[in-house]
Amino acid sequence: MHGDPNRIDTPPQSGPREALDPRSAWQEAAACRSEDPDLFFPVSGEGLGAAQTLRAKAVCARCPVVSACGDAAMAVGEAHGVWGGMDERDRRRRMRAGTNGMSDRPGLAPAVTRAARQDVRAAAFRLPGASRWLDGIGEAARSGPLVAEVWAFDVRGRRILLVEHAWRGLVPPGGKVEAGETPRRAAARELFEETGLSAVLLHKPAMAFVRRFRPDSAATTLGLSYAAVVDPARRLRCEPNQPAAWFDLDEPWPSCHPGDRDRMRCYLTSLLQSR
Ligand code: SF4
Repeated sequence: MHGDPNRIDTPPQSGPREALDPRSAWQEAAACRSEDPDLFFPVSGEGLGAAQTLRAKAVCARCPVVSACGDAAMAVGEAHGVWGGMDERDRRRRMRAGTNGMSDRPGLAPAVTRAARQDVRAAAFRLPGASRWLDGIGEAARSGPLVAEVWAFDVRGRRILLVEHAWRGLVPPGGKVEAGETPRRAAARELFEETGLSAVLLHKPAMAFVRRFRPDSAATTLGLSYAAVVDPARRLRCEPNQPAAWFDLDEPWPSCHPGDRDRMRCYLTSLLQSR
C-alpha cells in the first residue's frame, strides 16, 4: 500500500494497488498512505536507487501493518517495488527459503531440528523458551521462522561487525535458515551474502534466543547466534541496501537487544580464557 488511495497518479509499475486486494482492512493503517508512491519504486538497486530503497524501507519500518503487507506482496508474486519492508531481492530470498510468505512456519526437517536442538543445548547463552520453541510447546511456539546470525569479532575482541537492517537497525549479519540448511550453515551463508566475508564459525554456539521481532505479529522467532573472528582489514562487500561496518563493543548501539552486548563480551572473555 503506497500513497493516498484516492490519488489518481498511481505508481508507474503494474499497480500494486491492483495486485493487492483494495478491500483489505490493513491498508487503512499503512504508513505509506501519505508518502509519494514513486518512493517505493526505485529505478535500480544501486546508487541513488539504493538510497531510495533505504528511505522506502524506513517508512515500512514504522508501519504497523508491515507483516500483512509483506504477506500480501508475496502472495501475489509482486515483482517490483518495496512492500512490507522488502525489495525485490528480499522477496526472492524469502521465496527461495521455501515459503510464499503467507506463513512464516519453517516446516523444519528432522535433521535441521536435530542440529538446531544440539546447538541450542551447546550455546553459551540459552535464553528462556528456546527448547520449548523446538518442541512446539507454548502459545506462539514455532509460529515464526528459525534464524541464524554471526557475531563477527575483530581479532582483538574489541569490535563487532554489524549490518544496517531496514527496520531492525544495526544487527549482526544473519537471516532465515533456508530449507534443508542447518542453522550453522545458514549463519555462514548469511555472513557471506551480507558482508562478502567467509569465516569458520567457532565451535561453541554463542546464544539461543526466542524473540518477537515484529510488533504487529505474535509470531516468535528462534534464533541461533554463532561467533567468528575476522580480520577487520578484509574488504566488505555488502548488499546494495544494507551497509555493514565495524563497531566498538564498548559503545552501545540503540538497536542492540538488552543484555546482548554483555553476552557478547562474556562470550569473548571465555574464549580468550580458554586459549
Ligand atoms: S509495509 Fe511499507 S509498503 Fe507496506 S503498507 Fe506499510 S509502509 Fe506501505
